[in-house]
Amino acid sequence: MQSCSRRLMTYLSQKIGFAIHRRYFCDKAKTTLKGNANILLKQIEARILAAGPITVAEYMKEVLTNPTAGYYMNRDVFGQTGDFITSPEISQMFGELIAVWLVNEWTKCGRPTPFQIAELGPGRGTLMADILRVFSKFKIAGSDFSVSLVEVSPYLAQVQEKQLSPRQAQEATKLPQGSQHYKQSISFYGSQVRWYNHVADLPRTFTLFLAHEFFDALPIHKLVKVDQGWREVLIDLNREDLTLRFVISRDRTPACLYRLDNESREELEVSPQSLIITQAMAARIHQDGGIGLVIDYGHEGDKTDTFRGFKNHKLHDPLVDPGTADLTADVDFSALKWAATHPRTFEDWKANLTFGTVDQKDFLTRVGINLRLEQLLASCRDEDVALNLKSAHKMLTDPMEMGSKFKFLALYPSVMEKILERYPPPGFV
Ligand code: SAH
Repeated sequence: MQSCSRRLMTYLSQKIGFAIHRRYFCDKAKTTLKGNANILLKQIEARILAAGPITVAEYMKEVLTNPTAGYYMNRDVFGQTGDFITSPEISQMFGELIAVWLVNEWTKCGRPTPFQIAELGPGRGTLMADILRVFSKFKIAGSDFSVSLVEVSPYLAQVQEKQLSPRQAQEATKLPQGSQHYKQSISFYGSQVRWYNHVADLPRTFTLFLAHEFFDALPIHKLVKVDQGWREVLIDLNREDLTLRFVISRDRTPACLYRLDNESREELEVSPQSLIITQAMAARIHQDGGIGLVIDYGHEGDKTDTFRGFKNHKLHDPLVDPGTADLTADVDFSALKWAATHPRTFEDWKANLTFGTVDQKDFLTRVGINLRLEQLLASCRDEDVALNLKSAHKMLTDPMEMGSKFKFLALYPSVMEKILERYPPPGFV
């Protein structure tokens, strides 16, 4: 444990330098939000009036990714004046340590080239920008690898483009016919950057997968046990005041099949879309080689009701003003591990190996965040910047803040079993 951490830090000290990169926060006024709520509420109302109550998953999908008014689709939602802030937006230390971890694990795989780094749900592109900077310090740049971003939001794809690339990207209309990606550019360090809609569209090559706060945004179904057995929680319209409300399905719905027979909870959430994406990622890792790192808030299959809204950093009723608040649910990591280790029957792939989950505070401490903080403080001449660095470190690692809530899960191909027995992944042991 000590030696992994020390080896990583030796890399850091020798290669990645001591420059401090300030974080900027979103300061755009949220002018379109009320409009969003009206458009979405009308569409949801019409749908319920026409065909009856909808599932929580249908509601989440509509509210978050409706092409015209979805929460993520047309604005920046992060930072102090947004609705929530994420670890890479808090400090460069987070992305730097992940980058060093990736270099270490890629080296363990024999440094195959060319490879791709595929990030699911890259937000503002801040984590990827930190990773590319560190990779360039290790002289991994240019055609050694490409960057693949799986992003549903055209607005955020534009923000990512500005963050990662000095040139304007080529949009879909200018791309060769049959391209799987919808836009492409070249990064500041000379690597191809391409944007995709789905994991299944990614090129077939060795891949370092990353998903930070991605799975919590994917739709969930809510199930509840009643006297007659399992039923689904649906969303209906209260005809008297036209507000949305939860109701329980009269009969079993298809989502009820997703709970285990020996389930002891009376209420739970399932995310079939998360399982499908994890299986797709695991299949690629098995077939083409690669590693997956999933980071999110979540649990090991023991929580019951975690569906909630966030607006201006505060809890918000998820059924009020849809489209103006983030909707999220804790990630069920036990379900993701099940998906990574249960091959789809029609495909010939072996189960991935999984490591974790471990708490963020343990992962970051083991890979050297304390030493990294010391290094940055030693090169810092500005008292405010030093204070910011210290408070970022606390926010990322304190169990009362993000330290225990956020978990790390890693996926590896089964062929690496023997190597990993000797050299387990840093941060996980
Ligand atoms: N990883 C970033 C952003 C997290 S927010 C960070 O930690 O700062 C969730 C991200 O996932 C956003 O970029 C959002 O647009 C994207 N997203 C949400 N649902 C998606 C889907 N179904 N497919 C692809 N991207 C999605």
